Amino acid sequence: MTLTTILEKYGTHEKCIEFLESVRYAKFAFCPYCGSLKVAKKKDKKARSGYRWNCHDCNHSFSVTVGTLFHNTKIEMYKWIMAIILEAGAKKSLSSCQLARDIGVTQKTAFRMLRKIREATKTDQGAFLKGIVEMDEAYIGGKPRKQNNGGGEPNKRGRGTKKLPVVGIAERNGQIRVVPFNKKDLTAKKFAEFLQSCVDTENAVLMTDEFPAYKSMFKLMPHMTVNHSAGQYANGYVHTNTIESFWALLKRGCYGQHHHFSEKYAGDYISHFAFKWGNRKESTERIFDNIIGGMLDVAP
Ligand SMILES: [Zn+2]
Repeated sequence: MTLTTILEKYGTHEKCIEFLESVRYAKFAFCPYCGSLKVAKKKDKKARSGYRWNCHDCNHSFSVTVGTLFHNTKIEMYKWIMAIILEAGAKKSLSSCQLARDIGVTQKTAFRMLRKIREATKTDQGAFLKGIVEMDEAYIGGKPRKQNNGGGEPNKRGRGTKKLPVVGIAERNGQIRVVPFNKKDLTAKKFAEFLQSCVDTENAVLMTDEFPAYKSMFKLMPHMTVNHSAGQYANGYVHTNTIESFWALLKRGCYGQHHHFSEKYAGDYISHFAFKWGNRKESTERIFDNIIGGMLDVAP
């Protein structure tokens, strides 16, 4: 998307409303109050877009934003669209400070907008993962290790730190499922539950390192391990490089945001990164369409 096409397509409030209608009413327009399809556009000088919709069944008048998070928003519609385009195109994660500068809102507003956008990008938890799947845990949050040289104990690395544990399962070349875990739940039983909730165990092969909690996974599905402590990072096709590179992306993203990173928002960040990961080979346009579609379904 070039700046020129963005301006042409979304440069005014009217164009943004037309665009939202083309997405939300792609198949047919409908009344958000009674669901009727007997609706028609009528001119309305008071409406900013110059018209409203009218329902012939319940007589309500409405605009395309009713029932979506864009309704009664105090933020200009084109700023929302710009924010979504910028977020869709961001390789890592857009920071609220950057967004605030780019679209001319306060950092607080930018932070709230990004939260709403990311809510719409929660990954589809429906489809089961298959093929070669790699499972691993990581620890996120806290400050980058290199900044902790102020005399105190450096942040420990890996198992045994005070950071937030997350567990993930990645398809090689595909989707990923990641969830925050309580430290006390890093057990074989809980790992098996998570695995069975998102992997098609009949049509998949599991690869992990030799952490004890993975040891009994062979009872559920074919399981191969790579011995990191022996310096073995890849043994032919047996490796966990896919999920390792996801962790690298997630950690860089969290550090970039670390003044706002907290456990409260951890789940949102994680699912947002999982979305970015699943779409890493998609075009900005396609990601933008996915986000807009998701946002129109998010209640205000
Ligand atoms: Zn109606």
